[in-house]
Amino acid sequence: MPHINSTEAFEAACTYTGHDLGATWTPERTAFRVWAPAADAVAVNLYAGGTAGADDLLERLPMRADANGTWVAAKDGDLNGTYYTYSVTRGHQTNEACDPYARTTGVNGDRAMVIDLASTNPAGWETDTNPHAGLTINDAVIYELHVRDLSSDPSSGIRHAGKFLGLTEAGTTTPGGVPTGLDHIKALGVTHLHLLPVYDYGSVDEARPDEAQFNWGYDPVNYNVPEGSYATDPYHGEVRVREMKRMIKALHDSGISVVMDVVYNHVYHPEQFCFNRIVPGYFSRIDENGVYSNGSGCGNDTASERSMVRKYIVDSVSYWAEEYHIDGFRFDLVGLLDTRTINEAVGAVRQKHPDVIFYGEGWAMDTAVTKPGLIMATQENSRETPSLAYFNDTIRNALRDAVTSGCASGLDGQNAAIRQSFMGLNGWCASPAQTVNYVSCHDNYTLMDHITRSTPEAAREVRIRMNNLAAAVCLTAQGVPFMQAGEEMLRTKRNPDGTLNENSYNAPDSVNSLKWLTLEEAEYRNAYEYYRGLIAFRKAHRALRLTNADDVRANLTAVNGLPRDVLAFHLKGGVNGEASDGLFFIFNPTESAQEIDLPAGTWDVYINGDKAGTDMLGTIDSGLITVEPISATVLVKRQVSL
Ligand code: CA
Repeated sequence: MPHINSTEAFEAACTYTGHDLGATWTPERTAFRVWAPAADAVAVNLYAGGTAGADDLLERLPMRADANGTWVAAKDGDLNGTYYTYSVTRGHQTNEACDPYARTTGVNGDRAMVIDLASTNPAGWETDTNPHAGLTINDAVIYELHVRDLSSDPSSGIRHAGKFLGLTEAGTTTPGGVPTGLDHIKALGVTHLHLLPVYDYGSVDEARPDEAQFNWGYDPVNYNVPEGSYATDPYHGEVRVREMKRMIKALHDSGISVVMDVVYNHVYHPEQFCFNRIVPGYFSRIDENGVYSNGSGCGNDTASERSMVRKYIVDSVSYWAEEYHIDGFRFDLVGLLDTRTINEAVGAVRQKHPDVIFYGEGWAMDTAVTKPGLIMATQENSRETPSLAYFNDTIRNALRDAVTSGCASGLDGQNAAIRQSFMGLNGWCASPAQTVNYVSCHDNYTLMDHITRSTPEAAREVRIRMNNLAAAVCLTAQGVPFMQAGEEMLRTKRNPDGTLNENSYNAPDSVNSLKWLTLEEAEYRNAYEYYRGLIAFRKAHRALRLTNADDVRANLTAVNGLPRDVLAFHLKGGVNGEASDGLFFIFNPTESAQEIDLPAGTWDVYINGDKAGTDMLGTIDSGLITVEPISATVLVKRQVSL
């Protein structure tokens, strides 16, 4: 009866609150502590190597029962580089398992390794900091990337293709000399690089590095260990740690903060997951009939409400922030986790790292929780998690429809949804600091593929105008802008048979990779310049980055009396330190040019359907502007010297 593990009596007796779970290394001695409250006996197996099944046992240390269901052992000498597992016996059954608190592992994450973490630090690590310290989440511009996608196409010119180290290489170009990789991201101007899973996951065999394998990695095996297939050597546990830190250092040195995609809501195989091999059934939600809850759609849901699972998640997030200098966390399917767990994780990290940002997928899902009275971290409950932002599927869906249909199908509702989202005032959202605005991410079609599929009759240049209009709304809206890598180069995911790929989680590199060579063509280069200009414009205007709803309501107004399907907004100057006298936004998804009245004053154009940036594109002082079909127009009011 696994719900026994959720009772108050069990938690009072068996909640361990110390910070020494796992292997604690010093040059003289290594101490082990594991939580196994139901065990009859536990031992540590010390191995020479990290490969499961290898006949290289050095010693088996019996462990002694200690506080709150934990077991302890210690070994004198320098164990740095020694591999280990636990053998947990209950009745007649003994399970061998990796350490849930493993800091690194051998190949495929089967055996943990004792590690001197300080020895893995790159030069200058002691003074390494978040390049966006002191800024708010509303100052962020987030770019979502898979490690392999950056460098797996030959046109990247990146030496360490598919590896963490590929993100450390500066000066890489296409054959024609267009910057790629790290230099491209840096020049684009995004503030935060969000990496799809980089913890150890199970769907890529690390022992076959030369075979074509690809997976997004939403199948966690070891939560506190870097993924071995991204390291140049997955067999020696220190290498993946060292190379991931080098990647983060190189990004920080380039002015880019790093966000990790963390998937605590489910594990790869619930029976094989090390925590469940040590404490059967504890980590996962299992109903009265012994069936795994499956709100995640991945076969199991994590029982975040249990005290030692909650502690595990809090400890894990804190560890990445502290040891790896991670600047943000994106929680996969966070609606499956309870708000107390999220708030404790945020609180623990922010004690030392107040600038770390948090956001997640707050969809409401059906899951078999093991305790009554839980509040889950969903969009609708966003007021319970004031420091967690949520992906805004309202603007995603409405914008995709609006730009491809010109709102022509009577989509007044879409305009209402876009209006609310542009103001960061969605019904489910208490604050523009809690909404992540996007129109494409790794899931579903890329933005350009979605447009292509939705507009079979449209010319390519029209589709690009639709793409740019969607981007302009996202990047000038109140909230936190987020984009999928490659959106700025009209990314497509085309299968070998020519069809477009909607779910490329395990598709080959040829489908998923960023095609740098395209940037040698004007069409793609222009799209990139447009995005770069939108980001620069956002960074130049503090009024676009309001952090609370009161400021929005007092300063940002939706304009009434416009032509059908056109949206316009007026944003006052001065707010939040905005240097200009105000901004005016016109979004015209229709296929006609439109005439719009401007408020009094002289207005300078900085964004239109073709160009965006901090260079003035024109001036309107007649009070009336004609905007092009399928375009965004953003104007800044010229300051009048008194
Ligand atoms: Ca792995």
